[in-house]
Amino acid sequence: MELGVTEERWKAIITNDASYDDQFFYAVKTTGIFCRPSCKSKPPRWGNVRIFQQASEAIREEFRPCKRCKPTGQRLPDREWVAQITNYIDAHYSEKLTLAHLADMCHGSPYHLHRTFKRIKEMTPVEYIQQKRIDKAKELLAHSGKPIAAISAEVGVPNTPYFITLFKKTTGQTPSEYRQNQLHGNQ
Ligand SMILES: [Zn+2]
Repeated sequence: MELGVTEERWKAIITNDASYDDQFFYAVKTTGIFCRPSCKSKPPRWGNVRIFQQASEAIREEFRPCKRCKPTGQRLPDREWVAQITNYIDAHYSEKLTLAHLADMCHGSPYHLHRTFKRIKEMTPVEYIQQKRIDKAKELLAHSGKPIAAISAEVGVPNTPYFITLFKKTTGQTPSEYRQNQLHGNQ
């Protein structure tokens, strides 16, 4: 279906907004080429743009896919992208991780990353990071004699009181209680 050039879509094109990439494609009448909204090619003129919902529709109108943004495929499938993001978190959970930083490292907008990650993993990136940190903390509490503050810092939550609150909220026990219970459980 051919769509209208709305202010919203126009803004997505000129700001190369990747969060619109699965929503439409734009073709430029003067060049005969069509692109994803995120394409970093030279911005077209408003009057020369046609918007299509599907890449196949642009091809039917004899537009050619842009070599730069490859709108007919070859883009990393979402599942693989999310696997890369997950690997990055697994390797870096002990550092300060923000959504903006993740998005930078994994080449997407924070909004698009959050949305795609949630759709595939059924939890947000922030929830995943927290779960990773709590799992690692549990392991350290059960199998090391390290003090709580050291464990807190090691799993990427340098603020110990916040770590204790987060741990209790997630597991129902404070880190000390958890450690005690693990010790008794192992006897
Ligand atoms: Zn392009």
